[in-house]
Amino acid sequence: MNKSFLFLSLFLAFVLFSCSIHTKKNPKTEIINTIIYPFEKKEATESNIEIVNSQELTPKLFESIADTSFVNLKDYSSDFFYDMKYATNDNFLKIKVYDCSECYLRLRTIKALLKANERFMNKGYHIKLFDCYRPLDVQKKMWSIISNPDYVANPKKGSIHNRGGAVDITLVDSNGKELDMGTPFDFFGIESSHEFENLSEEVKNNRKLLKNGMIRANFRIFDSEWWHYNLKNAKKDNLSNFKWICD
Ligand SMILES: [Zn+2]
Repeated sequence: MNKSFLFLSLFLAFVLFSCSIHTKKNPKTEIINTIIYPFEKKEATESNIEIVNSQELTPKLFESIADTSFVNLKDYSSDFFYDMKYATNDNFLKIKVYDCSECYLRLRTIKALLKANERFMNKGYHIKLFDCYRPLDVQKKMWSIISNPDYVANPKKGSIHNRGGAVDITLVDSNGKELDMGTPFDFFGIESSHEFENLSEEVKNNRKLLKNGMIRANFRIFDSEWWHYNLKNAKKDNLSNFKWICD
């Protein structure tokens, strides 16, 4: 073997080795792409209620999961404030109906909520959440306590909360202090309505700020409750009984 042949062989071997390094896929990417999201695969055909066994994953990437997946808001942002009333006794039912306080929603609702919060933050405010997705079993429990459609949606029909497309919210300043919205959350009187005019200018402006920001982020109001917002077209999603696991 002469010197030039040996040099050529070594050079070719080096080039092949370099190529193999550059074309090798990032193993991390491979794993992410092959994650299976079980709760997207099991939709009941006999009824419109989604069947989900348990929370098996908490996916954090937008691109690798379906928009209809249930995800936890806190995995996507730490810029929200929380006062999840139904995970305490401090609600109109006077009974805690969630085992723990978490804000799960469908991914598409989360995306819209992140946009809304970003805009509010540019103005010095944050969204504070009172309620998010509500499993159908919890809706049934609430209905068994107060079977009045003026206060609780009949579980036979369900609400957008049971579909993962509704949030009950208010606005807080950067210190977490709530803006005055004229009534507390879950105050069931005419004063809570968007139609109600006999409010101070400050309250009207606060409600308008919340409403405009949410509408711009693709949410829609619910006439009788200033705190309730539905993602546009969320009614098309199935009612669900997906339940999250508490620590
Ligand atoms: Zn609501």
